[in-house]
Amino acid sequence: VERSAGGDRLGPAGVLELFRTGRAKTRSDVVRLTGLGRGTVSQRLDGLTEAGLLVSDGEGVSTGGRPPRRFAFHSSHGVFLVGDMRAHHIHAAVTNLEGAVLAERMLSIDVAAGPRPILDQLIAGLEELLGGLGRSPIEVRGIGVAVPGPVEFATGRVISPPIMIGWDRFDIPGHFAASYSCPVLVDKDANAMAFGEHRWCWPDHPEMLMVEVGTGIGSGVVIAGRLYRGAFGAAGDIGHIPYGPGEGSGEEPTCRCGNVGCIEAYAGGWAIARDLRKLGHNVNQTADVVTLLRLRHPDVTALIRHAARIIGVAISDAVNILNPSLVVIGGELALADEPLLAGIREVVYRRSLPLATRDLQITVSQLGGAAGVIGLALMLGDRAFAPELIDEQLGFRP
Ligand SMILES: [Zn+2]
Repeated sequence: VERSAGGDRLGPAGVLELFRTGRAKTRSDVVRLTGLGRGTVSQRLDGLTEAGLLVSDGEGVSTGGRPPRRFAFHSSHGVFLVGDMRAHHIHAAVTNLEGAVLAERMLSIDVAAGPRPILDQLIAGLEELLGGLGRSPIEVRGIGVAVPGPVEFATGRVISPPIMIGWDRFDIPGHFAASYSCPVLVDKDANAMAFGEHRWCWPDHPEMLMVEVGTGIGSGVVIAGRLYRGAFGAAGDIGHIPYGPGEGSGEEPTCRCGNVGCIEAYAGGWAIARDLRKLGHNVNQTADVVTLLRLRHPDVTALIRHAARIIGVAISDAVNILNPSLVVIGGELALADEPLLAGIREVVYRRSLPLATRDLQITVSQLGGAAGVIGLALMLGDRAFAPELIDEQLGFRP
């Protein structure tokens, strides 16, 4: 809460935020942190408790006299449904209102089958998970979907996606509206990962770049502690930065986006799979590349080292433009850990400006495969508990 000393103008939403972020546990904490009078604080706490947003959480430590009553954000007062989609699978999960995963499942898909069958499969999978938890669809407070393609964030539509054949401009939120009345948000996969990783693991790095190295290559940009989506949602699409001499040289690989010579066309999981097939390996998708990687096959290690240097060039460009203090590498191929990270580090530290690399950390994702679902749930939390919504719901007018 940025407006701590807001006097009586700090409404219930501001007080709720103190509990949601774990900064307050008792009425005295709120008085101390906000400067509101004790009577006003009690009024806010009563309103939030009656609305089911706070719960009594036992008693705290007494400093003489009656022990103070403790409060906590009511994280089980509803659930979020999330689906983190890639080309060949969806990580489906039910979370509580703080983003903790309550139940999850991997669904196999082919994203090119188009939106309707895949979203219906996702809905069915999520409803089975809900049922298994003994929760009902009316408890769903928000639905989040991450997709491997560019998303116009305001409308939740995928726009001219390279691999999501048949999804162009499909109304994903509208598809859920037939069965659910809660808010539905859609974002690109790297944004969901960046949001989760930043909020849970690196809140002290307000300038962070999360790079997803999976089947494709993308990034999520955090600036001043907030996810930066650009004008329409396309920010961070580093996979399609050109690498090498450019069009017309005749040696450039064709990318899934239709251009030639993109970073991804050399270094994405699909491109590495293509190069492994040329070497006689039986690989179809990124998961097969990961299998060879686990076996430490020298062919795949060599290709990953090569890919790392190319990805490093794109990251060093981004580092020069954005000057993050932290670059986090995630995605399926991030488990290649050493060859990938070493190659990226070498290029970024060599090519970026000294001031841009001063104290720059480059590391692998802490949340791993869970970053996307956690990020979606946390985004939904921010939307469901947006200050203006909560204040309005509780009849507070500043
Ligand atoms: Zn491309």
